[in-house]
Amino acid sequence: MSETSELLEIKHLTKSFGTTSVLEDINLTVRKGEAVVLVGPSGCGKSTLLRCIGALEDIQGGEIIIDGERIVKGGKNPKVGMVFQSYDLFPHLNVLDNITLAPRKVLKRDKAQVKEEARELLRRVGLADKEKSLPRELSGGQKQRVAIVRALIMQPEIMLFDEVTAALDPEMVREVLEVILDLAKQGRTMMIVTHEMQFARAVADRVIMIDGGRIIEENTPGRFFTEPQTERARQFLNTFTYESVKK
Ligand code: ADP
Ligand code: MG
Repeated sequence: MSETSELLEIKHLTKSFGTTSVLEDINLTVRKGEAVVLVGPSGCGKSTLLRCIGALEDIQGGEIIIDGERIVKGGKNPKVGMVFQSYDLFPHLNVLDNITLAPRKVLKRDKAQVKEEARELLRRVGLADKEKSLPRELSGGQKQRVAIVRALIMQPEIMLFDEVTAALDPEMVREVLEVILDLAKQGRTMMIVTHEMQFARAVADRVIMIDGGRIIEENTPGRFFTEPQTERARQFLNTFTYESVKK
């Protein structure tokens, strides 16, 4: 990848809800093929930032540019794929129909071709045998993998993951994170909000820490997790470790 292949550019972004400022002067760039992990305490603005990038929120200042195009709330935005903690699958549609609905209705793509692609992606995430299942017949980890496939089939330029394993049991966390690691290996451009710090370290090209609506540190994973530049990041990382209380 060339150094200049910037896919996402955020310049001086400010976002508020009413009179409450939530994001202040956010500046960041994501290059094609990069996986950027966003960390920070609850309420610092991570989800809001992803929602702004996904055109789900209006913004009060600055701009968000993806592939040369300015993002506008409510605009058609197939370049961004989003996966949230809640899977939001249609309960009455089977897995295959859940996945193929949007490409057929929104992108007007050929049904047979989309089905074939969906099957290939399902195979890739280990769900080849589940295409006829209804969401209620799947585990949380399986549903989340379907949600990832549903986003991928829209052929987004960038994938945004917002705490996608926060509601899952440990083994299911693993199976979902493996899928995201696989996407990183394939060179997918991604922004990932997660509290799984070992995963963050493994998947990230870059770690960005947000606190109080501002970027307070941007670092390589190697350095962020071993020698963070800021005291705030050090404190934050300490919340993930425990010291023995037994003699
Ligand atoms: P994080 O994902 O880092 O936990 P959020 O982006 O969800 O943080 O929230 C950042 C701040 O914005 C919080 O103070 C939250 O209460 C506030 N907030 C988020 N969404 C809304 C909303 N729709 N209306 C008002 N305040 C909101
Ligand atoms: Mg959040």
